[in-house]
Amino acid sequence: PELMSVNGVGKVFNGATVALQGMSLTVRQGDFISLLGPSGCGKSTALRLMSGLSLPTTGSIRWAVPQEPGSLGVVFQEPTLMPWATVEQNVWLPMRLRGASLSSVRGEISEALRLVGLDGFQRAYPRELSGGMKMRVSIARALVTRPKLILMDEPFAALDEITRFKLNNDLLTLQAELGCTVVFVTHSVFESVFLSDRIVVMAARPGRVLRELAVDAPYPRD
Ligand code: ADP
Ligand code: ADP
Repeated sequence: PELMSVNGVGKVFNGATVALQGMSLTVRQGDFISLLGPSGCGKSTALRLMSGLSLPTTGSIRWAVPQEPGSLGVVFQEPTLMPWATVEQNVWLPMRLRGASLSSVRGEISEALRLVGLDGFQRAYPRELSGGMKMRVSIARALVTRPKLILMDEPFAALDEITRFKLNNDLLTLQAELGCTVVFVTHSVFESVFLSDRIVVMAARPGRVLRELAVDAPYPRD
């Protein structure tokens, strides 16, 4: 089934900066799509529109996921954790917005932390964690509600190459285990080829989609 369709979407900032033009994309269940292009080509703008965090100037976006907290997982470039709250309380946030008490969802939180390799860190504070671990907590928070669709905006951009590679591997395993649908923004050709099965290549200016490529995985995925 179709989870989201982006129809001829454009975004102009302050009536002057054309960030995106005529973007169309259909996201189906199980897709792992990357938006690839150089800095400034409109990738973040496209992802923010897909998250519903900003509104398109032209065109429209249709979601086939429920409009409620936690039905869409979003991961930003910065881990955006609340520094005064523990790992567990941070991951709880989308459940809390749905009205669930912490004690009623401890199991789900532990499972999300296990999926990102951080079970046991429930009571730690963000300042005690490395950059890669904070990013893992962010990912756990995005998937604790088991969203049908996860949107990620260059989640590993701020990390060193080795941690990045490890998290890329873990993300593939995670997607295989959860069967989730991911739209992923990156300026790394390596990441887009390694992770996704469809690459939307965007032009530097003026925010246009150049082409959509299917990735024929060079190794079997199960
Ligand atoms: P990318 O994620 O590919 O680096 P962005 O989507 O962040 O690209 O930006 C696309 C263009 O839109 C850039 O020229 C950027 O400066 C501009 N832009 C992005 N956000 C805003 C904003 N809030 N106000 C004005 N211009 C913006
Ligand atoms: P990554 O970010 O990819 O998980 P790091 O290189 O940041 O890896 O850290 C390596 C490992 O060291 C982590 O996976 C974690 O098990 C452990 N570690 C790092 N920082 C801490 C910490 N503050 N407390 C406990 N263990 C830590």
